[in-house]
Amino acid sequence: MITVGTVYLVGAGPGAADLLTLRAARLLGAAELVVHDGLVDPEVLAIARPGARLVSVAKSRARHTLPQHEINALLVREALAGRDVVRLKGGDPLVFGRGGEEAEACRAAGVPVEIVPGVTSALGAAAAAQIPLTHRDAASIVSFVAGQCKGLTEQNWAGLAGKGRTLVIYMGVKTAPRIAEKLMADGLTPDVPIAVVENAARPAMRVLRGPLAGLAQLVERERVKSPALIIIGDVAAREDAALAQFALEAHS
Ligand code: SAH
Repeated sequence: MITVGTVYLVGAGPGAADLLTLRAARLLGAAELVVHDGLVDPEVLAIARPGARLVSVAKSRARHTLPQHEINALLVREALAGRDVVRLKGGDPLVFGRGGEEAEACRAAGVPVEIVPGVTSALGAAAAAQIPLTHRDAASIVSFVAGQCKGLTEQNWAGLAGKGRTLVIYMGVKTAPRIAEKLMADGLTPDVPIAVVENAARPAMRVLRGPLAGLAQLVERERVKSPALIIIGDVAAREDAALAQFALEAHS
């Protein structure tokens, strides 16, 4: 009789391999099969055991991703064949990562699942850019939202941004113009500070700042590419953030 394998949904963090948890690194170093998505940095994949089978489910250049049900089926099939599977996901598996859907599919098939958290990119970006997401003088609420999903315009973001609040938008590069309009229509003033953090926690990181009203132009002018996060609120303009950017430029 075959012993069913376990599926480990593992957070790979925002990029730099040394931001992995020890548990993630241990699992990755032992796994025979690693199923990863396009956001996982090559630096992280390099930790996999020599000879491990690495399966990418996102061919980002062709903008082609394996449909979610096929990813679920692949994980279940391999585990039922007796293999442990490390399913490696950028950031944290349960933050906009569809980890919940994969865990459900495994449980439904009788496959045991373990989840290993990762540094979600909002936290990675905040640390790398030295933007405090909360600050006693500036913000006591943080929200994470997806800028690209069904019915963006119908989504109610009222109250998520503004005085004393920080809004972090994932997957918002393409929809940046609509996001800025939406927030201003909800009552935010055009001068609310924003920061765009591209490639957070990677060597190519860029931190761009400006007012909310200039978000669309900033993204276009600087040719911002995914992966990037948009941070909206007073914390985005704090002095410590400006100093971090200076330090970054001085080192490059
Ligand atoms: N599970 C991931 C998020 C997946 S959604 C996490 O917890 O971070 C994909 C979005 O994450 C991207 O569109 C981008 O907004 C953000 N993202 C992921 N890695 C990033 C990085 N290194 N720098 C900036 N944004 C990143």
